[in-house]
Amino acid sequence: MNIQPLEPVHSPDPRTTILFEISGVPGISGYGELSYKCPSCEAILLKNIYAVHMARIVFRCPSCGGLSRMQPAVGKPESP
Ligand SMILES: [Zn+2]
Repeated sequence: MNIQPLEPVHSPDPRTTILFEISGVPGISGYGELSYKCPSCEAILLKNIYAVHMARIVFRCPSCGGLSRMQPAVGKPESP
């Protein structure tokens, strides 16, 4: 399984950020190729998802309360 750490977020802008309150672990589970863990406590927050679908969402970890989000280009080089 490909598990990436999420990018820590310290002060998300409420005007442009969607905050997803995760209530359990994993918070989201699907059929994609990537899993993401909390950068602070390493709880698996997102399991088997497609990164592009939720790139603008900030997640709140149910274990430590930390905020984090996907990095825009994790695992893929920028396209020219
Ligand atoms: Zn955490």
